Amino acid sequence: MKKRTGLVFFPAFDWSIAPIHPEREERLLYTRDQIFEEGVLDLPEIIEYRPQVATPHEIARAHFCVPGVDDQVLVAHRIAAGAAIRLSDRIMSGEINNGFAIVRPPGHHAMRVVHGNRGFCSINNEAVVVEHLRRTYGIKRIAIVDTDVHHGDGTQDIYYHDPDVLFISFHQDGRTIFPGTGFTDELGGPTAYAATINIPLPPGVTDSSLLYVIDNLVLPILKDFEPEFVINSAGQDNHFTDPLGSMLITAQGYARMTEKLKPDLAVLEGGYAIESALPYVNLAILLALAGRDYSYVTEPGNHPGKIVENSQVTNYVHQVVDQLQQMWDKRKDVTVSQLCGGSKYYQRHKNIFYDTEYFEEKQLEKVRACVSCPGYVLIDSHAAQPKIGRCRVMAISIHNRCCKNCIAEAWEAYYEAKKDYRYSYVYLQDKTDDTFITFRRDDQKEWRTEG
Ligand SMILES: [Zn+2]
Ligand SMILES: [Zn+2]
Repeated sequence: MKKRTGLVFFPAFDWSIAPIHPEREERLLYTRDQIFEEGVLDLPEIIEYRPQVATPHEIARAHFCVPGVDDQVLVAHRIAAGAAIRLSDRIMSGEINNGFAIVRPPGHHAMRVVHGNRGFCSINNEAVVVEHLRRTYGIKRIAIVDTDVHHGDGTQDIYYHDPDVLFISFHQDGRTIFPGTGFTDELGGPTAYAATINIPLPPGVTDSSLLYVIDNLVLPILKDFEPEFVINSAGQDNHFTDPLGSMLITAQGYARMTEKLKPDLAVLEGGYAIESALPYVNLAILLALAGRDYSYVTEPGNHPGKIVENSQVTNYVHQVVDQLQQMWDKRKDVTVSQLCGGSKYYQRHKNIFYDTEYFEEKQLEKVRACVSCPGYVLIDSHAAQPKIGRCRVMAISIHNRCCKNCIAEAWEAYYEAKKDYRYSYVYLQDKTDDTFITFRRDDQKEWRTEG
């Protein structure tokens, strides 16, 4: 069935980490040419939009940027996130059925607290859209399916304690690739158990095993979760020619997967085979979204019989799927108090490495393990950013469905942190009324971002 598919193309030609860095502006040049040359923009189903610019407030709904949004975010980041917002609005209005934001910079390694760029990401484009959809349209249940070869650790971090956002990531096993996380036992915090699903796959997975994972695990979980909106973090670095990944997926495999997932919105993430993969994978995905024939899209080097999967890889994939199916079936037997040992808070220490500028952040994250709501999150974070030096902050996030007690406790924690001289900045993100407050110790100033 043909669909109206929106496309925003934003290659950020003026932004790159470094001229020889794999995440550079040429990534989308060949894709643009391919889409033009194939006449895709002339198809009546494809509607191209200009991106908009995400506001600091739209970003602050998803992130605590230290010290502030403008210190971490360039116009290119705001446009990439704004492109995804633009498409989500057109989808919600019914003007288009689905959309593909072919944008950079990517976003899925950007976590809730942002001290800098990680894994080529500063702002999580998908999280900005999730918060926009919840705030603007009251959408309750949203799923993000991350199909990049790297674990979407940033998206996982932002929604680890949110039962309303299902995050499913399949990726190359973290023991063999950046960022080294995304194992089957990372299942979400006590109030959001099993709303995070990680499917680590061994190197060498081909289209058939990938589609096995989609059919036997991802689609059944999505069906049970019943999301009102599905976002695909579309990373194309599982391609068999990608220089960073070790997977064997083809453009056809990506398109078939897209056809099965039926995302409302796909947002480009990674993919570093600039000439041999990205133009073909992105084109095939776009055609699949629009319900057009994509069978003719074949990348160079993909000869019949060339890509073969080792039987050990196949068996391993089946075992991972079995294990996660069993967990999913038993998820409702697990209680909040079991998961946090009966204590008031669930907490975890995190060391987060910023690989672009080489520094580390240390975090203590505490979540109120409430039985009547998703709870609130307190994050004590410090890092020595190259530009501003050592900075310790307290960041408090109130879920939009928090109960009255939790809202009062979280605000109390904010007032207490303002009195605590260890914190240079104190932030409060209250999603119940769309408030974002920053308190700066230096001059005792406090301000709200404008909605
Ligand atoms: Zn990637
Ligand atoms: Zn509560």
